[in-house]
Order: sequence, then C-alpha cells, then structure tokens
Amino acid sequence: MKLTKLDYVSAVDRDLYSGLIRLHILHHAVEGPIFGLGMAEELARHGYRISPGTLYPLLHGLEKKGYLKSKQIRGGKSRRKAYRATPLGRKALIAAKGKLRELIGELMEGKSRS
Ligand SMILES: [Zn+2]
Repeated sequence: MKLTKLDYVSAVDRDLYSGLIRLHILHHAVEGPIFGLGMAEELARHGYRISPGTLYPLLHGLEKKGYLKSKQIRGGKSRRKAYRATPLGRKALIAAKGKLRELIGELMEGKSRS
C-alpha cells in the first residue's frame, strides 16, 4: 500500500493524539460499556482513524493500568469484550479534565505563562 500524504500525517499524528485518544476512550467507558469496534467507529467520527491493531493494545494498556475493566459478553454465538472505567479510571479522567481545561485555555485564548 502506498502512503498518501494524509496517511503519513495521520501516522505521525497518532503519537501526538495518543493521549487524547486514551482520554476519549476513558470518557466513553465512564459513560457506559464500550466495545472495540464501536469505539473505533466513535473515534473515526471524531476524525481519528485507528486500526484494531492500534486500538486493542490501547484498551489492554488502559486495563493493565487499572483504568478499565473488561468483561466477556455473550451474544448468540459471538463473544465480545466490554470495557468499563474503574473508580481509578474515573479519578484519572477527572484529573485529566483539569489539565485539559488549562491547556485549552492556553491554546484557545492565547494565554501564556512566562
Ligand atoms: Zn466521543
């Protein structure tokens, strides 16, 4: 596959946005159970194109840190993994919100500290 300029940019941006993507995942996992595929679609809706090969390690990493907890859900023949935020994950999200608010203040209002 030949990389277009857009693919290249999104590959580079993945590093830049990986924290935002994690927070986004955490946010939805606080609101309700999330699933890998649904989360990939949600992220795509926000302009983050993320492959399962990138998303699943992210979810596992968040679970390993204790921010998410997964559960196997049986639906007919298929088994899906649902993720929910843990109390630690909720706390981490609240802390991150404060930091994001501060960052957004600087980015959007051009405020800077010297
Ligand atoms: Zn969202």
